Amino acid sequence: MPPSPDDLCPKPERQPPLVTRPLASPIFPATVYQCDSTQQASQLLAGETPGFVYSRDGHPNGVMLAERCAELHAADHAAITGSGMAALALAMLSQLEQGDHMIVSNQLYGRSLLLFTAEANRCGISSSPVDTCDLAQVAGALTPKTRMVIVETITNPMLHVSDIAALAKLAHDKGAVLLVDNTFASPIVCRPLQLGADLVMESVTKIMNGHSDVCLGLLAGRADVWQRVTDVQSIWGFSPGPIDCWLAARGLGTLALRVDRAVDNALAVAEMLSGRDDVQSVSYPGLAGHSDHTLAARQFGGRFGNMVTFTLPGGTAAAEQFMAAATAIPFCPSLGELCTTLSHPESTSHRGLTEQQRGELGIFGGTVRLSVGIESSQHVLEAVQQGLAGVA
Ligand SMILES: *Cc1c(COP(=O)(O)O)cnc(C)c1O
Repeated sequence: MPPSPDDLCPKPERQPPLVTRPLASPIFPATVYQCDSTQQASQLLAGETPGFVYSRDGHPNGVMLAERCAELHAADHAAITGSGMAALALAMLSQLEQGDHMIVSNQLYGRSLLLFTAEANRCGISSSPVDTCDLAQVAGALTPKTRMVIVETITNPMLHVSDIAALAKLAHDKGAVLLVDNTFASPIVCRPLQLGADLVMESVTKIMNGHSDVCLGLLAGRADVWQRVTDVQSIWGFSPGPIDCWLAARGLGTLALRVDRAVDNALAVAEMLSGRDDVQSVSYPGLAGHSDHTLAARQFGGRFGNMVTFTLPGGTAAAEQFMAAATAIPFCPSLGELCTTLSHPESTSHRGLTEQQRGELGIFGGTVRLSVGIESSQHVLEAVQQGLAGVA
């Protein structure tokens, strides 16, 4: 009698009869792997031999993506996490303990600031938010308990630039590590580990994947800060899914091309905007008038990112008119998409601040943030000009 479907359906799968190797990598959705012996199982689970047992601890698509990211950042190690926030939490929980202190940029991404203040405080980790672009403020906030300094390479939305080499020196002199959120730069514009940072993080959700269809994070770093990362990732459950990793690895295949195009387009848009009388101010580190232009030119080697922020004189009403008229630019409060998108900090990322707090950062009702995409520069310029033409 042939075996019953009851027994055939749950049968372990056979491997496909591959003789040649596929050029594109397969997706490995398996959550668990078959072990050959008790000895092999215990060695694998102890991490004594390389290999996969359980997908929360690692899977081929995650490892392939991590290896490519480690190369991009010239890192000793890299870990892929289920989101950018998970990568930041992984950094904090792998480096710090109750009683430790952090210095954090007061202009961090909103969720990051909450993680490193309110959430960290709940774990008994204290923090001082300061303007980390002002090195004197960082030096003044360092204490003997400071174990980590956290900054973004390029801040949101005014695009201030952190002096990574100087911050690393300040941190290292006090025995602290420097963690850099490089999301607004990408490894094509900046490689913070090469400048002295110990850990670098990316929201792979943004330009790294670049196709608006994956939420993932990256933490990469030097060997001497990596001791606890692998265990913390598995125990706290920060692991990514294989299909997301596969998609992000595909996105990385065009990262350098995409960033180069978007960066060229962003400079063209910033120059166009700064030549217009109907625009009050333009913030782009590639413009000679930007407060951090000299630092950016030295640190980034000629690329200044794909983000451009500008302010219209007519307040929120003018921003709304611009957004309505710029029909080729979707209003999406994220960044790093293939197409040019825009966001409105007052009503999205910075809505939790008071008007005065926003004003101190340079954010007004008329402030619009562009994430410039990879279209032709003519298309991007016309799309922005179309928006400006709609402002009364
Ligand atoms: C989006 C973002 C994050 C968080 O990443 P997720 O992938 O959304 O969790 C952190 N930092 C910056 C600068 C970001 O833009």
